[in-house]
Amino acid sequence: MRPPTISDALAARHALAGQLPPTPMWNYPALDASVGAEVLVKHENVQPTGAFKVRGGLTLLAGLDADERAAGIVGYSTGNHAQSLAYAAKRHGVPCTIVMPVDPNPTKAAAVRALGAELIEAGRDMTEAAERAREIAEERGGRLVSAADEPALVAGVATAYLEIFEQAPDLDAVVVPVGGGSGAAAACLVAAALAPRCRVIAVQSAASPAAHDSWRAGTLLSRPNRTRAEGLAVGSGFALTQGLLRAHLADFLLVDDATIGKAQWLYLRDAHTLAEGAGAAALAALIAHPAVFAGQRVAVVCTGANASEHELRTHLPLATAA
Ligand SMILES: *Cc1c(COP(=O)(O)O)cnc(C)c1O
Repeated sequence: MRPPTISDALAARHALAGQLPPTPMWNYPALDASVGAEVLVKHENVQPTGAFKVRGGLTLLAGLDADERAAGIVGYSTGNHAQSLAYAAKRHGVPCTIVMPVDPNPTKAAAVRALGAELIEAGRDMTEAAERAREIAEERGGRLVSAADEPALVAGVATAYLEIFEQAPDLDAVVVPVGGGSGAAAACLVAAALAPRCRVIAVQSAASPAAHDSWRAGTLLSRPNRTRAEGLAVGSGFALTQGLLRAHLADFLLVDDATIGKAQWLYLRDAHTLAEGAGAAALAALIAHPAVFAGQRVAVVCTGANASEHELRTHLPLATAA
């Protein structure tokens, strides 16, 4: 698999122009005061699907040939990757089947169905759902789309980082939540070309540390996968994204799920922003590791907004707010 280059990111931006406008990146003084750094929030939560992944889905669909379009795509996901593929497939008139682990986030499942994709619930976790998706792709002859080992997804997601370094050329760091690693790999790719002095820092939940542990060990590892933050709930490292992280990532931090809830609350209170757990993980890293970021100018990617009602009722520390 050929890793994507900065030229692929520029080509993806060309392909996406007119489909997705650049997202805003705002600074909130109240948020700065809460975390003790200058925080620039990159608002991927305002994408039409509520998450950054749609950049990758649209880029991948734009690159399919006529036979692949006719055969359709098959994806597996806890939610936002599914919405991205369903949205892009609908736009391109391509049949789309999505496998989600049984009992998915109802907000995300409803969104996938509303976009016209066929949703199949199978498996207890992502590994089992991926296995079922592979079988379905074989039975039907569809194109199986990986959650992260897809150069087109990384190239598409890289357009967010082209925007970030244009919107703020003088960042000390950009902090990116990680599941499969497409976002952080894209950040590495673009920072290496446009902002080599900006540190790219990845964040994962300590309850699902497969990408973190893979990066530290320099080899692909599987790990327990227990975070409640769906976008971060991945149980193993991916070759393509880990390769890009190895080349340019400055550091990889872990946060616990309670701090993620606190960051979701700070987004609501200080930045009038609704973030799902994974969407708040970058901000959680600033709260959990204040010494790393004190006084710096830091972009945090608010990767997604698709919190279920249950998540909001259960995990936001509204009663004991910071
Ligand atoms: C998928 C996702 C992530 C993690 O992104 P990867 O590219 O898989 O590392 C983070 N936040 C949200 C909201 C997501 O949907």
